[in-house]
Amino acid sequence: MEAILEVNNVSKHFGGFTALNGVNLHVQRGERLGLIGPNGSGKTTMINCISGALINDSGDIRFDGRHIHTLPAYQRTKLGIARSFQIPRPFGSMTVLENLLVPFAYVGGADGPKERREAMDILERMGLAAKAEVSSKQLSQVELRKMELARAMAAKPQLLISDEAMAGLAGAEIDEVLQILFDLNAMGITIIMIEHIMQAVMKFSQRVVCLDAGKIICEGTPESIFKNPDVQRAYLGDEA
Ligand code: ADP
Ligand code: MG
Repeated sequence: MEAILEVNNVSKHFGGFTALNGVNLHVQRGERLGLIGPNGSGKTTMINCISGALINDSGDIRFDGRHIHTLPAYQRTKLGIARSFQIPRPFGSMTVLENLLVPFAYVGGADGPKERREAMDILERMGLAAKAEVSSKQLSQVELRKMELARAMAAKPQLLISDEAMAGLAGAEIDEVLQILFDLNAMGITIIMIEHIMQAVMKFSQRVVCLDAGKIICEGTPESIFKNPDVQRAYLGDEA
């Protein structure tokens, strides 16, 4: 098995606060990885360090064998790393299709007929084609979440990191987003799924990693992780 992403001994501090404390994580090409952990455990900070929104203070991050942790975010996007945001940030005044053409232009430098066709293909795959000409302001929560994933896909990633794409969704909507992530993985895209909805993590992940207070406290199959006393303690502590 070949690692597409290698996070080696990565730390990130905010002033005197340590958000990531020597994290090691290797992700195999094509893997479906679940990343869990209580609120504030460092999941989004980790994604920010991988995608380039933040630069880690120490340690090394490799993607496809290349050192990337000093590269700006747009270069990491071009190498094939895409992420969706925990809080969707649509360009509200634009249509759904236009929202997708922004990342196309960013990565490929154009938004002509070819890009429009590709963007429509992505919207089709997400079940959003009928909304292409609708203002993104008019989307429902689940449609907004799908558009977030569609925008991430417009960069043609090899690795997609989904940061709580199911937050605020319920029932059938969760299954719809889950199915999209399964379909993208079946196309060969490696997926890291950050999620609080545990049934979704259980269904989706081949392997689960749990962060707590900036450290990986355990990893394993979904079944073993949810039985793990350290994980249960971390989550109970979260509710206390
Ligand atoms: P998670 O996504 O697991 O809920 P985060 O990575 O967002 O956790 O946050 C981890 C910790 O780092 C939290 O205590 C948070 O308050 C802190 N943190 C995150 N980003 C910043 C920042 N830009 N400045 C200061 N503290 C931050
Ligand atoms: Mg987060």
